[in-house]
Formats: sequence, structure tokens, C-alpha cells
Amino acid sequence: MKGSKPYIVAGPCSVESREQLGEVVQALSQVPQVDMVRCGVWKPRTHPGVFEGNGEEALQWVKEVRNECQGLRFCCEVARAEHVELALRYGMEGVWIGARTTANPFVMKEVTEAMRGCGLTVMVKNAPSPDVQLWIGAVERCRQVGLKDIVAVHRGFDVFMNGGYRNNPLWEVPIELRRLEPDLPILCDPSHIAGRREPIAALTQTAMNLGMDGLMVEVHPHPDKALTDAKQQITPDELKGLLDTLVVRQTDSTVADGQLQRLREEIDLLDGQLLQVLAARLGVASEIAKVKERDNLAVYQPKRWEQVLQQRKLTAAELGLATEFVEEIFEKIHAESVRVQLGK
Ligand code: PEP
Ligand code: MN
Repeated sequence: MKGSKPYIVAGPCSVESREQLGEVVQALSQVPQVDMVRCGVWKPRTHPGVFEGNGEEALQWVKEVRNECQGLRFCCEVARAEHVELALRYGMEGVWIGARTTANPFVMKEVTEAMRGCGLTVMVKNAPSPDVQLWIGAVERCRQVGLKDIVAVHRGFDVFMNGGYRNNPLWEVPIELRRLEPDLPILCDPSHIAGRREPIAALTQTAMNLGMDGLMVEVHPHPDKALTDAKQQITPDELKGLLDTLVVRQTDSTVADGQLQRLREEIDLLDGQLLQVLAARLGVASEIAKVKERDNLAVYQPKRWEQVLQQRKLTAAELGLATEFVEEIFEKIHAESVRVQLGK
């Protein structure tokens, strides 16, 4: 799935009828960047008593619709062994594991066992909590049963502060996943992160700027009439506009040009200076520890620390640095200074 162009999965949150599926697939087949159609046939709903997908009947519609347009691959969500068996029986090329399934190792075991040795593309969404190990654990379960085409999907996280989105993107989590699993392709699902249409374009561009490998986007022919996730679905035309304007960045910068090389050398130099200054500062802290001991003064002096922090924040503002950033750094430096003074 890692390729020169981003891998694009697009399609409705839920397959609602034969007509809706036919209409959206027909439109998506006219968008050249699209590789795979997502078809939600079993929907994990928060509350009972609402539309939960059309199940096997929807798979039958997928089978019929795919005959009308060649070239596209199809995928659906699976959360049970039985779902996997049906997905395979109806000829799906891919499946995705939903966020709430990734979070449950018992279910992951059942679902991956049902996929043992098959050729499906398996897309593993992150669990709702920002726990990179839970995400990796689910990927490992896929590897254990011999799956070869495994992809991670970043769909944001349920955290207390969601940053104005349905799910907070917490980009540092997929960045950490990339560090730990450099060969695992990562798609971004801007639809479930955003929860509404407006931020989707900006989120997809951020995903590309971070070097992600593709997108999973919810697309519906008439989003406002959608039975699930109506607010966040976009039309095939909107998807086309979005993909046509997306700037895709090179992920391999080892072949950097001379200017980038020079700037990186400058960064290396400055980082060296930063570390020398930090070492010198902690050396002074050790001296201070001796003076405080001699004069019988407590190591932690709240008034002095408050003054230091306020002063550093003022200087930061004058230098055009974000004060929260500088505050965080100085809190870490101060904690280290206290640790050194306590001789720990
Ligand atoms: C979905 O993709 O339709 C879905 C239910 O997503 P998630 O598991 O990310 O909530
Ligand atoms: Mn959805």
C-alpha cells in the first residue's frame, strides 16, 4: 500500500440501499484517485434501537454493484468471526477493524483467527484511547495469523478535550506509531476525526504533510439524508475537489537537496549548543545545592520559581515563542534541577 500516490479508501459510512450504493460507487468510479470503496454493513452504534446496518443483504448489493464497475476494490468493517466469513464469501478484498474492536483483545483474537492465512487487506483503526501499544497489539494479532497486507488507520481519540473535533487527532500518536513501526502504512480517517465536513480538507492536508500513506473518507451521494454520520460525510464531487487540490509530499528526505542539508546541519549545531547550555545550567544547580545546604535552605523555593517562570514567559513572548511551549520546557528543566539538588 506504500506507493508513490496516496492510497484512497472512500465510500459511505453505511450501505443504506441498493440504489444508494449504486449511485455512490458509480460516482466514485469517476474519481481516478480512489482505490477502494468502504461499505459499512454492520454498524457499531452507541445506542440501541437505531439503524445498525443492512448486514448480509448489503454484501449482496456490493456483489451486484461491483460487477457494474471494474477496477475498484471493496472493504467492510468486521467485528465478529461471522462477519469475516461473510466478507470472504461475498468476495470483499479488504476489511477494517473498528476502533472499539481494536480496544478489545478477546474480540481481536476471534476476528483475526477467522482471517488466518487469507489474502484480505486489513485496516486496523486506532482504539478510542490514545494507547499506541493497544494499536500495535492489534496489528501484531493480524501478523500472527499470517496476514500480509496490514494497514493502520488513524481516526482520532476520545479524550476529555477534543480540540473542537469529534475525536482529537493527537497527531503525536500516529507519529509514535510510525517511529515504532516504520514499515506499517498509515491512512488518516479525517471524517471520524472531524465529525463534520468543514475541517476535513485541512485534516487531510495535515495527514499528507506528516507523510501518511493515504486516506479513508466517508462519502455519500446525499450526505444530509445519511442514516449514520450525516454531518461528516461529503459528496463524491467534494471528494474529487479535495483530492485534486491535495499536496502530496515526498516521505523520503534522505535524498535531500543541498539547501535542506545545510539547514539540517544548522539544526544539529544549535541542538549541540542547547545541550551544552542545559549541562552548564544543571552544573550551576549543583553549586546552588551546596549553598542551600550550608545555609539550611529548602531545595524548593516556590517564590523564586514563580519569578523565574514569569520572567522566562515574558522573554519568550518578546522572542515570539509560544509561552505554553516555553512554560512546559521550563517546568521540565526545573524538575530536573530539583532532582539534581536533592542528589537523586
Ligand atoms: C466507521 O468507520 O464507520 C466507524 C464506525 O469508525 P470507528 O471505528 O473509527 O468509530
Ligand atoms: Mn461513520
